[in-house]
Amino acid sequence: MTKTVEHIECLIVGSGPAGYTAAIYAARADLKPIMYAGMQPGGQLTITTDVENYPGYPEGIMGPEMMELFRKQAERFGTDVRYGMITSVDLTGKPPFKLIADESHEILAETIIIATGASAKWLGIPSEQKLNGMGVSACAVCDGFFFKGKDVAIVGAGDTACEEASYLAKICSKVYMIVRRDEFRASKAMIHRVLNTPNIEVIFDTETDEILGENKVIGARLKNRKTNELRTIDISGFFVAIGHHPNTDIFKGYLDMDETGYLQTIPGTSKTNVAGVFACGDAQDKVYRQAVTAAGSGCMAALDAERYLAAKTDVSN
Ligand code: NDP
Repeated sequence: MTKTVEHIECLIVGSGPAGYTAAIYAARADLKPIMYAGMQPGGQLTITTDVENYPGYPEGIMGPEMMELFRKQAERFGTDVRYGMITSVDLTGKPPFKLIADESHEILAETIIIATGASAKWLGIPSEQKLNGMGVSACAVCDGFFFKGKDVAIVGAGDTACEEASYLAKICSKVYMIVRRDEFRASKAMIHRVLNTPNIEVIFDTETDEILGENKVIGARLKNRKTNELRTIDISGFFVAIGHHPNTDIFKGYLDMDETGYLQTIPGTSKTNVAGVFACGDAQDKVYRQAVTAAGSGCMAALDAERYLAAKTDVSN
């Protein structure tokens, strides 16, 4: 295939709330952004049902519809949204940075805004996929409210699982916490909180054999890993909190990351260790991970990119 090349001011990689917000700001600042939206445009919100905690939607909105509105708003100001992947990058040397899209198209970008997000890890059992969005969720803060006064289960034993179990315990009648080993991975303070919450029952040494239900979750069959004993619990919601994986692999070796791959930015900014490359959203945030915080950081990234380009122009004039 012949290679085509284009030279642009601002490339946005990723199309969740962070990417689209960056696009709205960058387009309005006349940076003529091009966005590579990935293979699943819209990011994690496209696998969510109702979003009720994003300000401005008093009645809530479906995740995919919300992302469609974000896209329209970004396009209205001139963002070129493309469905495709950035497949390789070269961030050595000075800008423009060279990137390859869809294996064959070369882009030279003066600035890059990384908004590639993170993907929740899943257990990998068929019923989990079948009931995703119908009682199975990877975000207690997003979906816990739908199970008000009901019994739910959460899988995981890290800080996220403990935090989400505590959150769910305030809303739900009972929370079963399914832990695969005989101990937690979370910090002591988090463990203490879980163990001292009366309506959380921790079930150690246990894995999920199957989530039960046809069109909605009605229970889970659990298996003791030491005795192989099976047990069924009646639940309406099943939460998976076994970690996330930031989608940052293509930037390895160029950008500073923590040990789990989250991009590191200069605190209070979206700046990475490479001047001209900015990061926003879940690709650089393992603590808050909300649509609204991602959108806010996307705005920061576009403003940082605009100011970076303006400062360069001032120097060259
Ligand atoms: P972690 O990787 O820390 O924990 C993942 C948990 O999921 C582990 O307990 C692990 O079990 C379990 N797990 C993994 N795969 C499976 C599986 N297939 N079946 C059952 N259980 C499984 O992820 P977190 O998201 O909890 O935390 C990520 C990072 O973010 C950590 O550094 C954490 O400290 C930090 N964080 C900090 C917070 C805070 O400070 N407020 C809040 C949230 C996160 P096992 O232990 O057996 O490996």
